[in-house]
Amino acid sequence: MLRNSTRSVKNGKIFPCRSVVYWVSMEKETTVVTELKDFADEKGNFGIAYDCACGGHRFATQIYDSDGVAAIARLLPTGSVVLLVADAEPAAGTYASRLRHSGISVRITTCEEEEKSIGEMPVDDDVRMVVALGGNGCADCAKRLGRLRRRPVFITLTSPAAATVLHRNCTVRRGDTVLAVEGVEPKGAAIARDLFSAGDDLPGAFGGICTAAVALFDREVCARTSGRPFCAQVTRTAYDLVYCALDLVRKYDRNHKELPQRLAEISLKLSLLSQADGKGNIVGGAAYDCARTAAALLRREDRVVRPYGQLAFIFGTVLCRIYREWISCPAVFTPPPDNNRRAELLSEYFGLDEFTAARIAVRRWENTALAAYRLNEYRSELSASISDAYAVFDEAGRYFRRLHADDGYGLRNYLDSADVRTVVALAPDFFPASSSALTLMRELGFLDRYL
Ligand SMILES: [Zn+2]
Repeated sequence: MLRNSTRSVKNGKIFPCRSVVYWVSMEKETTVVTELKDFADEKGNFGIAYDCACGGHRFATQIYDSDGVAAIARLLPTGSVVLLVADAEPAAGTYASRLRHSGISVRITTCEEEEKSIGEMPVDDDVRMVVALGGNGCADCAKRLGRLRRRPVFITLTSPAAATVLHRNCTVRRGDTVLAVEGVEPKGAAIARDLFSAGDDLPGAFGGICTAAVALFDREVCARTSGRPFCAQVTRTAYDLVYCALDLVRKYDRNHKELPQRLAEISLKLSLLSQADGKGNIVGGAAYDCARTAAALLRREDRVVRPYGQLAFIFGTVLCRIYREWISCPAVFTPPPDNNRRAELLSEYFGLDEFTAARIAVRRWENTALAAYRLNEYRSELSASISDAYAVFDEAGRYFRRLHADDGYGLRNYLDSADVRTVVALAPDFFPASSSALTLMRELGFLDRYL
C-alpha cells in the first residue's frame, strides 16, 4: 500500500488525484494557486516560497516557463556577457544566437567535469552570469564555476536527466575519484523544449526521479533518530511526482516524443522541492552516494561508467531491500564497525593513500545508543516508509529496463555481487557530509557484514 499520498492503490493500479501546490509571490504579496502541472510562473519574481503547514519553505531558484532567454535578458543589463556551459554543440549555437538577439553577448565553453579543469576554465572579468545548457552534468559544472568565480548561475534544461540540477552540491571528478563539492544554488531555471537532443538519457532521468523514494526514507531516518522535525507535505508532494513519472512511462514507450520533456519537467519540480526542503536532500541520499562510489570504483578498474541517475536507480533497488530487512529485524546487539579494516579496504579498492583512508574511516554519529533507541521507537512508521519506496522500485524496475535502447540487456552482469557489496559497505565513508540511513547502519555495525 502506498502511504501518505494523494493517490491510492486499488487493484494494483495507481489512480491519479489532483494535487495542488501553492506558489506565493513574495514581491506582490499575492497567493498564486496553480495545479502541479502549471509549474512555472512567468512573472519573473525571485524569492518565491512554498506555503505549508510546517511553517513554509523558501526557494532560491525561480522557474521560468519558456526557454529562459527572455528571463536572462531581463535579469542583466543590455550588452552583458554570459558564459554558456554546454555539452551539445548544435543546441549551444542555437541558444547562443537567441541570447544575442536579446542583446546579450555569449561565450561558449564545453562542459568538463574534472574539478581541476573547472577551476582553470576561463571566466573573464566582464562575464556577468554562468548559464548551463544541458542536464545534471552541465549544471554541476556551472554551479561549481559559479561558486569558484562568484557569479550567479542560470540553468536551461535540454536533457531530461535533471533531478539534481538545483541542489547546492555538485558531483565532479578529480582523476579517478568522484567528489561531492559545494556549488551555488541557481538564480533561475527553464526548459528549452525545442532543443532536446535525440540521445537523451531517459533511464537516467527516470532513475533519478525514482531515487527520491529511497532518499525520502534516508531523510525520515535521519530526522527521527536525531529528534529533528521534517515536513510531511514535502514527502507527499515528492511521492506525487514519482507517481507522475511512473504514470508517464506506463503510458509512453521510450520513443514517444513528449517523454523527454515531461521527465525533465518532473525532475525540475523534484529538484525545486528538494531545495525548498532545506537541509534534506530528497534527490540525493545514500543511493547517490553509492552511485558516486560505484563510479569511482568502475573508473579505477577501467570499466563502463553509466550516468549517475542510472547508477542511483540500481543502488536504490539494492538499498530498498537492505533497508527493509534492517528495519524489520528486532533490535539486537551488533559489534561496532571495524574502522581500521575499512581504512585498509578504502586504500586497496579505491587507491586512497593511508592517511586519507584513515581520516575518512571514522565515527560519524554522536550518541548512537540514542539513535538506536529512537529507531526502535519509530520502527512501525519507518517500516511503512520503506514499504512505499519498495513498492515504487518494485514497479519501476521493468520500465527502467525498457527505457534502454537494448531493453536492459546490457544491465545483466553490469555489476556483480562483490561490486555491490563493496560499494554499499564503503559509500558512507566516502561521502561523510551527507548523512543517511546507510550512515546510521554503518555506525551501528550493520554494514561490516558486506566487507
Ligand atoms: Zn512543509
